[in-house]
Amino acid sequence: MFQDLNKAQSSTSYLRDQWNSVLKKLNTEYGNEVFNSWIKNITIRNLDEDVLYFTVPTRFIRDWITSHYLDKIIYFLNQENPQIKRVKINIDNSLTASMLNLDKNINEERNKSLFSNSSNYSDDWPLDERFKFEKFVVGPSNELAFASSKRFCSNDVIDFNPLYIYGGVGLGKTHLLHAIGWQLKEENNNSSVLYLSAERFMFQFIKSLRQKDTMSFKQKFRSADVLILDDIQFMIGKVSTQEEFFHTFNSLLDMNKKVIISGDRSPSDLSSFNERMKSRLSGGLVVDIMPADYDLRFSIIKNKYNELMDRNKHTFNLEEDVLSFLAKTVTSNVRELEGALNKVYTFSNILGKKIDVELTKSVLKDLLKSNDKRITIDEIQKKVSNYYNIKLDDLVSSRRIRTFARPRQIAMYLSKKLTTRSLPEIGRKFGGRDHTTVIHAVKKIEELKQSNIKFDEDINLITQMITSI
Ligand code: ADP
Ligand code: MG
Repeated sequence: MFQDLNKAQSSTSYLRDQWNSVLKKLNTEYGNEVFNSWIKNITIRNLDEDVLYFTVPTRFIRDWITSHYLDKIIYFLNQENPQIKRVKINIDNSLTASMLNLDKNINEERNKSLFSNSSNYSDDWPLDERFKFEKFVVGPSNELAFASSKRFCSNDVIDFNPLYIYGGVGLGKTHLLHAIGWQLKEENNNSSVLYLSAERFMFQFIKSLRQKDTMSFKQKFRSADVLILDDIQFMIGKVSTQEEFFHTFNSLLDMNKKVIISGDRSPSDLSSFNERMKSRLSGGLVVDIMPADYDLRFSIIKNKYNELMDRNKHTFNLEEDVLSFLAKTVTSNVRELEGALNKVYTFSNILGKKIDVELTKSVLKDLLKSNDKRITIDEIQKKVSNYYNIKLDDLVSSRRIRTFARPRQIAMYLSKKLTTRSLPEIGRKFGGRDHTTVIHAVKKIEELKQSNIKFDEDINLITQMITSI
């Protein structure tokens, strides 16, 4: 979700300055040749929460930068601006199709030489130094996931495989996955631990198809000792990637290699995955992470504060009660909580003074507003029926014609996503429908979002209308 205009404008010039310093460092690090051939192609776009968006002219350049320079880029960016945790590179669509075609031919030539040693796909994702077990704060909402992750790293015969961790955004899944990777690497010196997101698995798979080199792709994944796949929900609707992953997954399991998977939902809720896949994914241990309670939020933010103090040689000044204020008010997820602290930190630097709760409130007013806001099903129904120009009565009626049925499914989907209401409660609000109808609606809309860009945009727009009231 894009932040409001004000915020974007005020941060753009900071962002440019920060990016310019990063460019200088990258030039020094890699030299002119690499800098001019690759890094100069990057255009910086905007910062959305902790994700910085870039564009580059072609897919190939994106893949190359991602696999060779991205970890350094993120590292330098994070030094400049601790808020930035991730980078997303999009392709700039303003290039014409003919340019892209031309480019594709050149790139294919170039690929041949670059990948002449074709078994060497060196583009798995590096593990993040900050995501280790020691840095993970344990509380009731995540202790099962934490203990299972540790247990999974033990060298005894493990009694479950794969380990599947699921939960909402920003609750620490990626952190745990990296921690497992670190631990397994440390304990088994030469073992090859592959960590990557489902999205990158797909890119690599497609790349190997394009280069007609699926053999080395398969080889690479099947020779791993440990495979860690983050955000499997990305594969929903991407059937051939799912199948390829499933083959890899099965052969690793057959060889007793450890596999760890994370997702934003349980295996049984992975719509478009076939039943066999779902059941094998849940064949090991499935654990979830719940949102953190106040005490856990407080410990996490306290730790993070101490880290910032250490890193910046105690120049960060907060009044005592700011930390508890943050833990009390930023309840959505840990990532937002960290983001809030980073923002307060940046401001204390700019202003050069001690920050109290009042100042915190004004610095974070947008974030606090969204955490404060309780979206209701009634509001969602009203907005959706307005958007589709139908009567509220028809939206909740039993009439099945498409004009009403689709908006009804959308409203159910949004009620599930944007409120904490249970499925039966949502069903009741829609003319006393059964909870399975709500599940069906959610699945249907997710599928449509995956397969139809226009539809996806519509849903995002309606979501924005609802959340920005
Ligand atoms: P997810 O993958 O579930 O979306 P992340 O693992 O990326 O979430 O976590 C978001 C941020 O919150 C990361 O910086 C992570 O280190 C931090 N975080 C989440 N949970 C904890 C925790 N229990 N202790 C310390 N840091 C945490
Ligand atoms: Mg994650």
